[in-house]
Formats: sequence, structure tokens, C-alpha cells
Amino acid sequence: MKKIQAIRGMNDILPEGSPTWQFLESRFSAVVKRFGYREIRFPILEQTQLFKRSIGEVTDIVEKEMYSFDDRNGDNLSLRPEGTAGCVRAADQHGLLYHQQQRLWYQGPMFRHERPQRGRYRQFHQFGVEAFGMSGPDIDAELIQISATVWQELGLLEFVKLELNNIGSAHDRCAYGRALTAFLEAHESELDADARRRMHSNPMRVLDSKSAAVQSVLADAPALSDFVSQDSCDRFEVLEQILQSVGINYVIKPNLVRGLDYYNNCVFEWTTEQLGAQSAVCGGGRYDGLAEQLGGRPTAAAGFAMGVERLVLMLETLERVPESYRRPVDAYVLTNGEGLFSLALRLAEEIRALCPGRGIVTHCGGGKYNSQIKRAFSAGARFAVVLETAGEDSPVSAKIRNLAGAGETSSAELSTIPAEVARLLEA
Ligand code: ATP
Ligand code: MG
Repeated sequence: MKKIQAIRGMNDILPEGSPTWQFLESRFSAVVKRFGYREIRFPILEQTQLFKRSIGEVTDIVEKEMYSFDDRNGDNLSLRPEGTAGCVRAADQHGLLYHQQQRLWYQGPMFRHERPQRGRYRQFHQFGVEAFGMSGPDIDAELIQISATVWQELGLLEFVKLELNNIGSAHDRCAYGRALTAFLEAHESELDADARRRMHSNPMRVLDSKSAAVQSVLADAPALSDFVSQDSCDRFEVLEQILQSVGINYVIKPNLVRGLDYYNNCVFEWTTEQLGAQSAVCGGGRYDGLAEQLGGRPTAAAGFAMGVERLVLMLETLERVPESYRRPVDAYVLTNGEGLFSLALRLAEEIRALCPGRGIVTHCGGGKYNSQIKRAFSAGARFAVVLETAGEDSPVSAKIRNLAGAGETSSAELSTIPAEVARLLEA
């Protein structure tokens, strides 16, 4: 019978790979906690309408990439393609947005039906941060500082670059959209079908076109920057000043627009040269209109999301994961002789009590001393603790064998073994 395989673009994370994920998760959650952010968890499935209304009907995500289906009640549901929409929905539904400031974070799987390749999958994971109720550039700067701190903690800061753009207020973008539509209408015959379809419904999406012909038309198109109001420019300038004063380097990217409709004012992306075509590792910005667009009250909002798989790839290539995360077993307790297993279990417990956070394995499955030692090696243990006896009534002795070094063995009084193992492991 043919074995069933995982769905294309949806990865299993095997025990070999999970330490990198754990390292990433622990560093990320520690950083956001230090900045006073609290975790929020919301469902992986939502009403499809939520994503259509927030991300935008005429975006790649909603038009081509969502996993949508009718459930048994006939409701149209979608696997979440990103976290912001669900986060705003949940926060508003539970009254977290009204007259309040919130600093929230989330993590988890997202789903987009894209062409799978290195760094681009159909189930992928994000860490995200959302801040509500703060309208100034101060919170934009804080978000950027959090992301920079995450890179610092992961040892990746020197491999990423911050790109910033000011895409103007919702009002500015409307005016720009009208000008762009008028321009595109005048060049309609030179456009492809995609661009023609989008020039009325979402003209700014035409800017993302992959067609060379469309791009050459766009060379003379009106520039968004000419439509950005003084107010928006002023707040962006404050953001730039804060970033400069805290020493965060950035470049301005006038064509950075982001693939979701809900952004306004400051948008940013962190990119890397380590990953080939999939260069974006984090994207974010302000989205002040979103809560209202979803039926809530107007709410100042900004956030970012990091792509976990891309960070995992970077950490692996650059070998940034500390040894302690990669070693599941530190000591392996085994027995040489009959009737020693219960004693081995008790001894392992005593070692665990002295070495919290370490992996202490008791050998199970029987076998001769040699085969047990082989298991200790293949488990990657640094030390084997061997309990021995010459016979049932003979005294039990113990020794510690260093599996990582030259194999030196030291004998010790049974009662002193746990402390001795603890000393060796911490040395
Ligand atoms: P890209 O330009 O690479 O398609 P995006 O702009 O669609 O990225 P966002 O929606 O901003 O991505 O999501 C934030 C981050 O999530 C990205 O910077 C990226 O690191 C990651 N990401 C997005 N799509 C995928 C995917 N299909 N597989 C893996 N990671 C992804
Ligand atoms: Mg994308």
C-alpha cells in the first residue's frame, strides 16, 4: 500500500531540527516579555470574511493564497494566512481595544497556498507583535527596537538590514490611488490583464506587477511620495530622529508598499542576503484603520511579524544555536549486573534534582554493558553513570565514564555520585 505523505509545502520539524526552534522561541518570548508585551492566542480558523475585509479582496493573499472551504454548517472559513486580522478581531471582541493601550504578542502557524521553495512554504510560522491605542511614532520606534533586540539576542543583527518607507495616511493613499488609476487608464492598452483588472479595484497592487511591460509603463507613474501629507511627513521625521538617536541603522525604500492593504504611514521590513530570493525576515508597520474597517471603533495600531522558518534557516547556516539547546541528553545511567534497575531510577532522580534543565536518561530495554554504552554514545550523552555489582548479594559500586573526552573513568562512593555528576556537568 502506498504510504501517505505530508502535504506539499507543510513541513515536519524533526527532533534534530527542533532545538533551533526552541532557541528562537525562548529568545523571542524573553525579549517581548522584557518590553512588557503579553501573549494572546486566537484560532487558526476564522470566517473568510475577516481576511477579505482586512487584508483586502484584491491582494495576492486573498485572491490566490488562502485555504478556504465551507464547513458542515455551510460557513465559509479560512486557515489564517497571517496573524494581525485574528489578533484585532479577538482583541476587539473581548473589549481590549476600547480606551486602552495594549501590547500583545502571538506565535503560530500561518497558511498560504504559494509555490513551495526554500524559505517559502504553505504552512509557515510567525512571531508577531501588535500594539494598540498608541498613535505616535514613539510606538513605531519601540516596535523596531524590539525587532532589533531579537536579532541581537539571536546573533543575527549583522546579517539583517532595516528598510523603511512612509506610505502616507489613508487619506493620502486614496488621493494617490485616484491619480494612479487615472494614469493607468491612460495607458490601458499597454497593460496586462492582471493590471487592467486591478487598476480600478486596487491600483496600488499594480505596482507589485511582475510583468516587465507593466513595470516600464510604471516608470512614469505618479509617485506616492508626492501625495504624502505634511502631517505624515512630520511624524515620519520624528521616527527617523528616534531611530538615529538609539543607533538603529536603516535605509529608506520608496517602493516598499507591503502586500496587505491595511497599512498606513510607517512601514518597514527587515531583509537579509543570506536566504536568496526569500529575503524578507520581518515585516510590519502601522494599520490605524483596520479595527474600524472590521466594524470596531477607530484604534491606533502598529505591529510586525517575523517569519520563523527563514530565521531557522539563518540560524542553522550561521550555526548560531548554543550547544545547550542541541544536547538532549547530558548523562546516561546504566547498569552492569542483575537487579539494579530500581537503584538506577532512584539515582537518576537524585541527579535530576541537582541538575534542573539537564537531560538525564535511565537505560531501558536491558542488554549487555557494551550495548548499553553504545546507546549512551548514540544518545549524545557526555557522561555515562554505571552501576555495577558482582552478584545479587554483592555490594553495588558506581563509576562515571566521560564519553566526550578520552573516555576516562572515575569510581566514586554511590552516595556521592549525584553531586559528582552535577559538578562535572556544570564544569
Ligand atoms: P514575501 O515578500 O517573502 O512573500 P510577505 O510580504 O508576503 O513576504 P508578510 O505577510 O509580511 O510576508 O509576513 C511576514 C513574514 O513572514 C515575512 O517577512 C516572511 O519572513 C514570512 N513569510 C511570509 N510568507 C511566507 C511563506 N510562504 N513561507 C515562509 N515564510 C513566510
Ligand atoms: Mg508574500
